[in-house]
Amino acid sequence: MSARDAASEPLPVSADAHLQEILAGITPLAPDVRPLLEATGMPLAADVVAPRSLPVFDNSAMDGYAVRADEVAAATVDAPVELPVADDILAGDPRPHTLRPGSVLRIMTGAPMPAGADAVVPVEATDAGARRVRITAPAAPGAHIRRVGEDVTAGDLLLPAGEVLGPRQIGLLAGVGIEGVQVAARPRVVVMSTGAELVEPGRPLPAGSIFDSNSYLLTTAVRATGAVAYRVRATSDEPRQFLEALDDQLVRADLVITTGGVSKGTRDVVKAALSGEPRMRFREVAMQPGKPQGFGFVGDGTPLFALPGNPVSAYVSFEVFVAPALRKMIGREPYSRPLFRATLDAPVRSIPGRRQFLRGRFATGPSGPAVTPVGGHGSHLLGGLGAANALIVLGEDVEGLDAGAAVPVMLLDREY
Ligand code: AMP
Ligand code: MG
Repeated sequence: MSARDAASEPLPVSADAHLQEILAGITPLAPDVRPLLEATGMPLAADVVAPRSLPVFDNSAMDGYAVRADEVAAATVDAPVELPVADDILAGDPRPHTLRPGSVLRIMTGAPMPAGADAVVPVEATDAGARRVRITAPAAPGAHIRRVGEDVTAGDLLLPAGEVLGPRQIGLLAGVGIEGVQVAARPRVVVMSTGAELVEPGRPLPAGSIFDSNSYLLTTAVRATGAVAYRVRATSDEPRQFLEALDDQLVRADLVITTGGVSKGTRDVVKAALSGEPRMRFREVAMQPGKPQGFGFVGDGTPLFALPGNPVSAYVSFEVFVAPALRKMIGREPYSRPLFRATLDAPVRSIPGRRQFLRGRFATGPSGPAVTPVGGHGSHLLGGLGAANALIVLGEDVEGLDAGAAVPVMLLDREY
């Protein structure tokens, strides 16, 4: 590089500043009412108010007999109280029942309580009689009755906006009779690899070629955010072929991720193809891995992330830049993974001036959370990536740390 080139080279931007610029350009996708099972994993776009109370009506918590508590107050095993069984009430029974004094009604779990009864004697405290029943224990007033509204009250806030819909929330919504809720559209993300050397897994591997791991890795990472991913087979290093493939894909993309072709080689296809785009920017970010980054907008304003080609760089770039953008699109906060503290159990080193993301294996042991660096520094090291469940984050001012130091870590398999 000549002195003149070096002088015109822009200084690397910090990872934080790059992320803030990306987020400023990302617009959340419009919410709409979607069926419960299509809303799973998404944050609610609006508060949900309970349309009815739960339980909907007073009902029995046990299989047993609906009684008047005062009529069985003296019941014991030695001196049972015997009463006639006037009728059976099953779950789902729509008839209004009334308990007449001097009798009981056999009742099943979830069946509506009859008027006039104030307790349920579980079948275990009886001889289980069908026409007459011998009751061997008293029941306190209110015993084994589930009261209307004791769980959820109509008109109360059921779930607040922002709540992520997992199995428990979906079950609650279904339980109050709601069939659909307001959530954002799932972003449709096109994942494109570039490189003449790339071969589909399962195919023969010619000399000098490697298997395309990035498109599989990133498709999986995209889906883990709740977005929809379309994986495109690798394109060559011809800018024209890349642009044709991109053009084909834009109709179904809310966001595009490419990998490879953004560094300083002679065939940097993505950079060559897109550097003329007025809204694309290629720059160096002060981080490792993931120094060369491209971001901007193509077509009608579709965000495009041009990530570096090495698999570890591509993945770290996804976690640090792309996942926050996808979370902003669906209205899920926080955008970035939170950092936890862990104790390093081996020394690490870093390049000052760059934020370092080392692969690590995190575990909580007897002396608290600890992290072991796995693999090396190389951003081609897929084995270390596969063994990792955390990124150890070393700040721009850190040169190295000894074992025993406390470090911030991102836990890659944890919901946030
Ligand atoms: P590039 O910037 O395109 O030269 O890519 C940097 C390095 O990452 C090269 O060693 C590429 O072979 C490798 N690479 C690029 N794309 C992929 C991919 N999809 N899967 C695995 N390795 C890749
Ligand atoms: Mg390449």
